[in-house]
Amino acid sequence: MPANNKSAAKAAAKASKASKSEKKNKKIDPKAEFPNLYETSSAEDIEAAMSFAEDYKTFIDISKTEREFVKNAREACESLGFKDIAGLDTLKAGDKVYASIKDKGFVCAVIGKRPVSEGFNILGAHIDSPRLDLKPNPVFEDTETVYFKTHYYGGIKKYQWTTIPLALHGTIYTSDGNARDIIIGEKDTDPVFYITDLLPHLGREQMKGNAEDFIPAEDLTVVIGGIPAKGKDKIKEPYKAAILKYLYDEYGIVEKDFVSGELEIVPATRARDLGLDRAYIAAYGHDDKCCAYPALMALLAQDKPKRTCVAFLTDKEEIGSYSNSGAQSVLYENFLMELLAKNLGGIDKFNMLVYRKALENTKMLSTDVTTGFDPKYANVFEKNNTAFLSHGVKIEKYTGARGKSGTNEANGDFVADITKIFADNSIPWQTGELGKIDAGGGGTISCYMAKMGMDVVDMGIPVWSMHAPVEVISKIDLYFLYLAYKAFVEQIG
Ligand code: MN
Ligand code: MN
Repeated sequence: MPANNKSAAKAAAKASKASKSEKKNKKIDPKAEFPNLYETSSAEDIEAAMSFAEDYKTFIDISKTEREFVKNAREACESLGFKDIAGLDTLKAGDKVYASIKDKGFVCAVIGKRPVSEGFNILGAHIDSPRLDLKPNPVFEDTETVYFKTHYYGGIKKYQWTTIPLALHGTIYTSDGNARDIIIGEKDTDPVFYITDLLPHLGREQMKGNAEDFIPAEDLTVVIGGIPAKGKDKIKEPYKAAILKYLYDEYGIVEKDFVSGELEIVPATRARDLGLDRAYIAAYGHDDKCCAYPALMALLAQDKPKRTCVAFLTDKEEIGSYSNSGAQSVLYENFLMELLAKNLGGIDKFNMLVYRKALENTKMLSTDVTTGFDPKYANVFEKNNTAFLSHGVKIEKYTGARGKSGTNEANGDFVADITKIFADNSIPWQTGELGKIDAGGGGTISCYMAKMGMDVVDMGIPVWSMHAPVEVISKIDLYFLYLAYKAFVEQIG
């Protein structure tokens, strides 16, 4: 046995002795407890959670779409001295850089004291949420009313999107090549949009149908106007003509420009405290902004970390992480490659094997939400293996469906490293699966990341009414999620 291995063995023996004596002194309860954190947290922690929630609500109210999230993340980074990585030839410890992924995804990093070639510590969330996108030729008139046709994005219960105030967010490129950013429906003085539903008095047949069918996708049409153009007798479709004129006068948009549009219909509601005790937050898009925001904040809190810390904020997760802004895109990997090359001394210093080895030593949290136990729907949950609101972050070793199909299953030693860090930092956690085994299933970005060779596990907080126009999370969960992500990027590896 070489000398260094001998001393390592001695050290290990000493550590094991120490832990044995520790075990003697410390009363170990072998039973797992996952308590409600409003019962067990200090008054200071609860106050900190309430205050963290205020910042979160402010941020998500101006970041409803992936583009808006990117814009605000970039501004937050720049205000803390982060630079666009494209402008730097080399990177050293403490350097802070970011890159935009087609303005719909975002990556940022703080270079660690250890060389980048030793691996990254990554937090990866998605910043797209279920919504209704405008079709490429969306404007039509029917019975003296003008509508947008929509195409739903992500998994939604279609009937939930009727009879609520809606807003229009997005970007459209006019034929002269200019981008127009649009937000209508958020200011108190703005108009809103609306999808009608049938009155109950005449809804007998409708109510007998399957919930999946009683609002067909093609009926998710959004009311946008009802006053005809002047001289209406001479104009074909005078109501539509008036709306098109308004769009041209206000935004310079003609009807054919919608083909380039990335226009999204989202709830026109703000994040609100829920409950007399304000335990929860009701808001649009908690999935996955309630993980993306604390992940970004944990990254922004880094100055000169041990290992290079990275945040991935990805697009298109709700529809399979495709497109060049989704997590399957090589653009995310390009950023890691650039971090490595520039840390080695410049773009021309890149070495593929060094990069692959760095990925092998990389540790990542796929920071996505999970479902919270709801007693009304207890039959889809297995109570011993599910997450409860206010019981903290959930370590989800695997997701998938049926026989673990389509999952990334995290390695046990990696999971144990994380629970040790959480124990050292007094961060409570819970665990479980998505629901009962054959009740359904779901996935996250973790499988695409694991493919690169890194260790990755899913970790987020539980949500009630996931994918509904307004979803619910617990403030105490959100706060401990931030602490968990921060401890992870600072201490893992
Ligand atoms: Mn999600
Ligand atoms: Mn989702």
